[in-house]
Amino acid sequence: MSELNVIKKERTAVINPIVTCQPLGAMYAVSGIERGMPLVHGSQGCSTFVRYGFARHFREPADIAVTSLHEDAAVFGGRKNLISGLGNLAARFKPDVMGVVTTCSSEIIGDDVAGFIKTAKVEIAKKMGEEAADKIKIVQINTPSFVEHQFKGYDNAIKAIVDTLAEPKDEENGKLNIIPGIVNPGDIREIKHMLSLMGVEGILLTDTSDPFDSPLRPSKADKNPYYQKGGTPLADLQDCANSLGTISLANYANSAPASLEKKYNMPSKVSEAPIGIQNTDSFIRTVKKFTGNDVTDEILDERGIVIDAMADVASRYLFGRKVAIYGDPSITVGMARFVAELGMIPKVVCTGVKNEYFVNDLKKVAKESDEDIDALFGQDLRALDVYLKENPVDLMIGSSDGRLMAKDLGIPLYRVGYPVYDRVGYQRRPIIGYNGALNLVDGITNTILDKYYETQDWKLQQ
Ligand code: SF4
Repeated sequence: MSELNVIKKERTAVINPIVTCQPLGAMYAVSGIERGMPLVHGSQGCSTFVRYGFARHFREPADIAVTSLHEDAAVFGGRKNLISGLGNLAARFKPDVMGVVTTCSSEIIGDDVAGFIKTAKVEIAKKMGEEAADKIKIVQINTPSFVEHQFKGYDNAIKAIVDTLAEPKDEENGKLNIIPGIVNPGDIREIKHMLSLMGVEGILLTDTSDPFDSPLRPSKADKNPYYQKGGTPLADLQDCANSLGTISLANYANSAPASLEKKYNMPSKVSEAPIGIQNTDSFIRTVKKFTGNDVTDEILDERGIVIDAMADVASRYLFGRKVAIYGDPSITVGMARFVAELGMIPKVVCTGVKNEYFVNDLKKVAKESDEDIDALFGQDLRALDVYLKENPVDLMIGSSDGRLMAKDLGIPLYRVGYPVYDRVGYQRRPIIGYNGALNLVDGITNTILDKYYETQDWKLQQ
C-alpha cells in the first residue's frame, strides 16, 4: 500500500521561505470586511511589505494603516501610537470595523493592547460622540510573528472577529458560515456561485472578492469614499452566531469553527480546500447536510463538464507525469488529490508549515493513490530544490517564488497559490469548485503540452 514519507528537515536556518509572518493573514482577513480597516501595531515595514505583496498579487491597492512604532516605543511602549492611531482612523475613515493587528515588536514590548483599545474608545467617544463611537467596532487580533506563519495569523484573526462581533439571537438565520482561507477573489466568487446554485445564503468570514478585485468605475463617493466595494458587512459578522453551521475550507483555520460550535452549539466542519472532484463533492455534501438543500442539476452539469474535460486529457497527456507541489498547507493537499485524480503522480508536496492537519490530509491522499508521496513539511524552497535535483519531476505547481528554481531545473511551473506576481489574471480565475477544476485541467494540460510536445511533432503525437 502506498504511503506518506515525511522527509526530515536537515537545517535550522531557512533559505527561501514559503511562509511569511502572522500579520499577513490577519490583514487579509480584515480586508474582507465591508468598511473594515486593518491597523498594524508595529513598525512601518510590517505593513508595507504586506501591502506591496497584496498589490503585486491582486493588482489592487490595499488600505492598511500602521501605528509606526520606532525605537522610543521599545522603551516607552506603543500606547500613544495605538490610541492616537485608532482616533485618527475613526475620525478620518469612519470604518465599521478596525482590526488591531499586533506584531513582533508590540508583542515583545508587552503592550496592553486591550487596555489601550479601551482608552481609545473613550477618546473616540469624546471627539465623535457616544453614538458615532459605538458604531465603530474594534477587534484585537494577536499575531505574535516570532511563532508560526500567516496561516496561523489568519486563523487568529477570524476567531477574534467572530468572538468579538458575533451576537446571538433567539432564532436561526438560515444561513451558512463559510471560512474560505487565504484564497483569491475568483475562488470566493466560485464559493458564492456554488452556494447560490444550491439556494443557500452564505456568510463569508470574510469576503475579499470585491475588495481585492474592484470594478474601476466612479465610486459612490457620498456613501463610501475611502473603501473598495464589497466585503462582509458588519451586520453579517454579528449574525454569524445564528447560522445553521460553519464550514472552514482551509485545514489551518479551525479555531473560529470550534469557538462558534462551543458557544452557540452550531455544527462545524474543517475540511480540505474544495479543489478537484472529490474535495468539491465533499464540500457540496456538507452544504447539503447543514442546510438540507438539494444538489441541483446545474451543479451536476458543472461537475459533468469537468469530468468530461478530465477524460479528454488525463490518459492522453497527463497520466504518469510526476508533479512537485509547494505552498499553502491547504491548497497543496487539495492539488495533490486533484493531480492524482488526473492520473498524475503527486511525487512531493512541500509546505513551510508544521501542521498535523496537513500531514493527516496528505496521508489520506497517499493511501487513496497508488504511489508513495514524499512530504517536506515545515521546510523551505531550498529543501525542495535539493530534493528535485535528485528526484526530477515533470511539472511543478506553486507560487511565483519558485520560478527561478523551475527555470534552473528545466521543469515547467504551473502557478497556483500566493503570491503570483509574474502572471496576470490569476487572482480572477478560481481553482476551487468544479469551475476551478476546469481551469486547472486546462492550465495544467497546456503547460505539459508546451513543454513536452514539439510543435513539429504535433500531428504525430496527438
Ligand atoms: S516578522 Fe515581525 S518585524 Fe518582521 S514584518 Fe513580521 S511582524 Fe514585522
